Amino acid sequence: MKTRILKILRNYPDYISGQELCESIGVSRTAVWKIINKLKEEGYQIEAVQNRGYHMVSCPDIVTESEIVSRLSTKWAGKKILYFNEVDSTNNQAKREAENGAAHGTLVVADSQSAGKGRRGRSWSSPVGTGVFMSLILKPELHPEYASMLTLVVALATARALEEITGLSAMIKWPNDIVVNKKKVVGILTEMSTEMESIHYVVAGVGINVNMDKLPEEINKTATSLRIELGKPTNRAVLIEAFLRYFEEYYEKFERDKDLSNLMVPYNERLINKGNMVKILGTNEEYVGKALGINKRGGLLVERENGIEMITSGEVSVRGVYGYV
Ligand code: ATP
Repeated sequence: MKTRILKILRNYPDYISGQELCESIGVSRTAVWKIINKLKEEGYQIEAVQNRGYHMVSCPDIVTESEIVSRLSTKWAGKKILYFNEVDSTNNQAKREAENGAAHGTLVVADSQSAGKGRRGRSWSSPVGTGVFMSLILKPELHPEYASMLTLVVALATARALEEITGLSAMIKWPNDIVVNKKKVVGILTEMSTEMESIHYVVAGVGINVNMDKLPEEINKTATSLRIELGKPTNRAVLIEAFLRYFEEYYEKFERDKDLSNLMVPYNERLINKGNMVKILGTNEEYVGKALGINKRGGLLVERENGIEMITSGEVSVRGVYGYV
């Protein structure tokens, strides 16, 4: 009910009378009044004027279930939102929820993570209330070897959402980072549980540095936040809504094609090192080559002296020859 009231207030340009609000939701005036008070406690500024009704003046930067759902227009992505003040990591929480039967498209969101994760056991800095920490639960009917492409689908959707909402140019560092002005603003961590030849579930975690005014010293040479780049805050729920909208569209293309044939052009347009020399850091070797772009299976094509090689994500890191990108 809170979500429905929020949705009506958000979409209503003027004052809406208490009577109208009650009738459209089918509850008593007292019930509406109670919910309005709850919303005010959460930080929504709602004006109540006699003979005119209610009007939402501003909303807080929160990522609760009702705040996100009241903005959604998707068919299935994020239709179920599980919000937590704090979790160890949204990927861990999403795995627990998936094990307990959470549906495809469920989104786990937290205001903070006590143990945010990066790839290969690394950590993700997650200060309270300033970032987007979210993990999507996906249950695709695909062979597990297709799952790595999902990271690229998520990366493209995140980049498009950042561009739409902030106007910044969001570039992708293959396969899983989003970079703004040559610094990392988003990290993506995809994990999966398989059963024989099929995927049990995938959790796709996205961490976005949104409103931090500075980053920890150990990462501030390579990392930035949207606030630092824009000089003003961005509403996190607005970003999440845009991400879910793009993700749903791109996922449906991926699901239909079973590859990235309809997504590789926009992905390659944003590929930060395209056409440049990059350093490939593998577990056993390190070499330099020219990044040509991704192919429809999501591999990075790199030109070396002896020909073109396709790199699959797994255990490699790509760096610029002179630094992070
Ligand atoms: P590589 O390119 O080396 O494979 P990655 O970019 O995939 O690495 P992840 O494992 O996804 O890196 O992210 C973890 C790393 O990101 C950490 O080791 C740290 O250097 C950096 N990092 C941690 N927190 C943040 C953050 N909030 N913003 C940007 N970078 C961060």
